[in-house]
Formats: sequence, structure tokens, C-alpha cells
Amino acid sequence: MLRVRPVRESDLMLVLLTRERGRIDAVARGARRSRRRFPGGLAVGQRGVATLASGRGDVWRLDEFECEGDHGAIGRDLERFAYVAYVCEVAEALISGTEPDDRAFALIDDAIRELVDDRPHPAVLRSVELRLLDTLGLAPALTTCAVCRTALPLSAVSEVAFDHRRGGALCRLHAAGARPVDTATIEAAAQLLVVDRPRAFVDGLSRPERRSVRDLCLAAIHHHVARPLRSAGFFASLALPPDDPRSPSQS
Ligand SMILES: [Zn+2]
Repeated sequence: MLRVRPVRESDLMLVLLTRERGRIDAVARGARRSRRRFPGGLAVGQRGVATLASGRGDVWRLDEFECEGDHGAIGRDLERFAYVAYVCEVAEALISGTEPDDRAFALIDDAIRELVDDRPHPAVLRSVELRLLDTLGLAPALTTCAVCRTALPLSAVSEVAFDHRRGGALCRLHAAGARPVDTATIEAAAQLLVVDRPRAFVDGLSRPERRSVRDLCLAAIHHHVARPLRSAGFFASLALPPDDPRSPSQS
């Protein structure tokens, strides 16, 4: 459940990410009046089995929803809620098609499950950002030049020219006008795409490294999303210090 919005007197408009039909819009009629067909409620980040019927136009009708997992854990903890809301909003913003996408579905499903079952950790957010962009073919070039695809000599330089508008990292030939980014940041982002244990990897980074990886990931997301992400405000409301890797400032 990526998005939940009240409409009319008693209905909810939903954006669902489904395994079989990709991202769909659905209406849950009467959901705010009666919880009979939706005993676990309908909330952002909920995982479960949806019974859907084709409705009007592109909007499906949600007839039943059977929850999986303890969604209550999200509601009881503001920090956990902020993490889950952010993952859902990033997914909603980046995934557009109604074609099923097993990898994108598994990424989001696993991330939410992990955030419910385990302590929220910024590595979950960074993994989702980078891996979702990657699976959708939108990830910035990191180890090769975005223009000419030449492998970059990362071990020999301390900074790499980088420009999200041109697709990411750039070789010296194509670097004009791009800003320099620490090679360590680029390498950490490239590692985050492939490591098996993102938490341990992020814990091994210094605080400035985590901050620059976060800023790189956020800039990559914002490059593909037209509007500002609402859930960034949740993090601000948690009053995390600005250099905390969990607080995704827009800097
Ligand atoms: Zn180049």
C-alpha cells in the first residue's frame, strides 16, 4: 500500500504496488465507515493480499484486504513510520507502469518487511533508493563515464566529476561544468548496489561518508521526481540532527 487518501464521505483512494499487475490505483468503497472488509485497516506501508475487481476506467475496486505482518509496529513508532512512508513515497514516485516488475516489487516488499521486523536503519533507505533506480534503469553512472562509458580510474583519483542531469559520473573529457564528488562517495554508492549486508556496510562508513552518500542518493531520486517528497518532512519532525544520516535534508 503506497498511498492512502480519503475521498468523498467514506471512501479511500489507494495506490497499490502489486506483484501481478504492477502499480495500480484502487478505490475502497465505504472503508472509512466500515472495517468489515478491511479488518486490519488500510494504511501506507501495509502488506497483504488484495481482492480487486476492475472498476471504472483505470481505477480498480478493492473488495477485501488481508494484512500480512504486524503493521501496528509502524503506527506505534514515529521513526519507523517515517522510514516506511519514505520508502512508499519513493516507490510511488518512481514506479509508473502497470507492467508487473518482480524485482521492484521484491525490493519494496522486503524493505517494508525489514523496517517492520527490525530496527529502522538508514542503510534500508539508501539500498531502496539506489537499487530501485537501478532496477528501473534510472541509476546514475558510478564507475563509468555517463557519456562515453569509459571505466573511470577510481583508484587513482580523489574526486570524480558528477552531474545528475548528464547521467552521473563523468570522465575528464566530459567533465566540463560538473561538480567534483569524493571518489569514496562514488565507490560507497557503487558498493551499496551489490553488498549483501547494507547495514554492516553503512555502519562501516564514517559519518561524513554516510552523509555524502545520502546526499548523492537523494539528489539522484530528486532528479527523477518532479515534486518534493512529502515524507521528507516526517524526518524533520523527528528532530534528528542535520548531520544524522537518517535525516534526509535537501542539501
Ligand atoms: Zn566520457
